[in-house]
Amino acid sequence: MNNLTNYHSHCLYCDGVAPAEDFVKEAIAMGFSSYGISSHAPIPFESCWNMKQEKLTDYIVEINSLKEKYKNDIELYIGLEIDYLDKTYNPASSIFQTTPLDYRIGSVHFLKIGDEQFIDIDTSPEQFKITVETIFNGDIIKLVRHYFDTMVQMIETGGFDFIGHADKISMNALSYRQGITSEKWYNELIQDYFHFIAEKGCMVEINTKAWKKKRLFFPNRQHFSLLRKFNIPVVVNADTHHPSRINDGRIDALHALLSEGFTHVRQLVKGEWKDVIISI
Ligand SMILES: [Zn+2]
Ligand SMILES: [Zn+2]
Repeated sequence: MNNLTNYHSHCLYCDGVAPAEDFVKEAIAMGFSSYGISSHAPIPFESCWNMKQEKLTDYIVEINSLKEKYKNDIELYIGLEIDYLDKTYNPASSIFQTTPLDYRIGSVHFLKIGDEQFIDIDTSPEQFKITVETIFNGDIIKLVRHYFDTMVQMIETGGFDFIGHADKISMNALSYRQGITSEKWYNELIQDYFHFIAEKGCMVEINTKAWKKKRLFFPNRQHFSLLRKFNIPVVVNADTHHPSRINDGRIDALHALLSEGFTHVRQLVKGEWKDVIISI
């Protein structure tokens, strides 16, 4: 059993740049033991990266046919990255619980403002700055707290296998205000957050998508010690949209985990999440 795995992968059904089969072929060529496709699940309003509702059935059929086609080469799994929008639309919603999936990722990309409005916080730094200034009157702390409150609501609601990019807001918050993740209030918030995650027994992904370009993991590298302290199980994922990037950051993430005292990562083995020893 090696640690060559990735369960966070986008394809043409959402905002990935290649068909799902190209990712599977690349994973096989690189010797991956298992791989998961996890398109952005449909949401009830226009978005340029989520799957269209009417494509969901095709998605299930296509990934299942790939599973069958490559069953002798790789363990292939079908998932979805599901947005937590609010109490009525989230990974625990019956539409997603009744969809035949091997696993579900719970993620927050939108924050609910008032009764109707959703704002995208996983956007360009320029757009994020406009959001902070126009919707939050320049109060970045209020926005960051709103993000983590939404994450906490998602964790309370459940319905997912692991938490996607658990502190993704840090990327844009850091571009808005350098050093923000080292501020006292942020550290206190993060301590409480991971303590809560541990109490709920959730699995957290180490998201390596921004490692190559920005030297950022999600959760941030500076908080790996907290994950260890609270005994939170982790799964390393590339969150890739391009077949050539399925292995980006994985080795560096595993080294970082080892240096914090982690000995195992979670991987899917014959359909079940197992603790697999880190061997690099
Ligand atoms: Zn995401
Ligand atoms: Zn993603």
